[in-house]
Amino acid sequence: MDDGKELAQFAIDYLMLEGACAAGVATTQTLAGGPPSTDLEYVLPGAKSVVSFAVPLDPVKIERYLSKQDQAGHQQDNIHTNFFVSGLAMGLASYLDQKGHTSYGVAANAVYRKDTPRGMMDFVPDLSHRYLAVRSGVGWFGLSGNVITKTHGACVILGAVVTTAELAPSDPLPPQEKYCDECQLCMASCLSGLMDKKEVTTVTMGGMDFSYSKRLSYHRCDLVCGGFTGLAQNGKWSTWSPGRYAIPEKDSEFKAALFKGVMDSWPRPEIEGGFYHPAMPAQRKINFTCGNCQLLCHPDRAERKRRYKLLTKSGVVVQNADGSLEAVQPSAAKRRLAAMSPEQRACYEDVPK
Ligand code: SF4
Ligand code: SF4
Repeated sequence: MDDGKELAQFAIDYLMLEGACAAGVATTQTLAGGPPSTDLEYVLPGAKSVVSFAVPLDPVKIERYLSKQDQAGHQQDNIHTNFFVSGLAMGLASYLDQKGHTSYGVAANAVYRKDTPRGMMDFVPDLSHRYLAVRSGVGWFGLSGNVITKTHGACVILGAVVTTAELAPSDPLPPQEKYCDECQLCMASCLSGLMDKKEVTTVTMGGMDFSYSKRLSYHRCDLVCGGFTGLAQNGKWSTWSPGRYAIPEKDSEFKAALFKGVMDSWPRPEIEGGFYHPAMPAQRKINFTCGNCQLLCHPDRAERKRRYKLLTKSGVVVQNADGSLEAVQPSAAKRRLAAMSPEQRACYEDVPK
């Protein structure tokens, strides 16, 4: 099995057999000229190709999460799918390795380069799964900048296997078939304003252009998706975060807001479950509270609208003394916060000192 086409098809079949919903191959040629995070040799000297793939998240758990019936179910599915994807990558890498092609399974998430000026805190990934996925035909870039797949939209976890084998590359998906109609529901569901509404970013890989909306400061997503705050400006809906700290307008204000959010929310009771992220101090856990831009992006526009409605009509989240989260009417949430001591309230909202 030394033909690049045959081995590429085998690698794709291997991943599809175990639960991937899409897979494809990019090579050092098809990635040429791409951003630094497409440099396969960063993780494996002598690398020639990468097999990129996507594994879907559970839509039933997404529905219960967006409608604020159940945070823990999707959180656990998301964490375990990430671990599954990393394990599946390791499985294929090990197989190829045993067959004489040195290979490397890339972790699905939370691995950052340590050789940048601030090391891990620069959050530069070893490889960008998103770029590899769009170049190899796993999905398109949605306006959100998330990778959107034919079957499961953006509701997937991406993985990759880098190998020294010379695999035959697959084509990117045809742009004319891309389902993203710029509905902007990803932007409407993002309380942090990460995506620029006008400007786009274009990356060129192997002579082909791929575009998505320009991303503003990543501290925006850190603040909201990190769970420190998450109340919509109209006060009528929230993410799964019980926090209500103000969300700044300007990029330059987010670093300070993030620091304040981490410090002020520190005494909140612990939420059950979650995961350990290397950027969190004192081995503190992180919980899933957002992901809205990804979770509502379904290939069917009517379903996208329905999910947006579920999100924005299901009230706001408060935290109980035992750490559990609960969605209530906005007026009830206000009463709950007003009844707290100033110290307790400060864990959730800006309290004049
Ligand atoms: S939510 Fe709409 S605009 Fe955003 S990526 Fe999905 S289809 Fe495109
Ligand atoms: S995860 Fe949440 S905060 Fe982050 S970009 Fe998506 S919608 Fe915005």
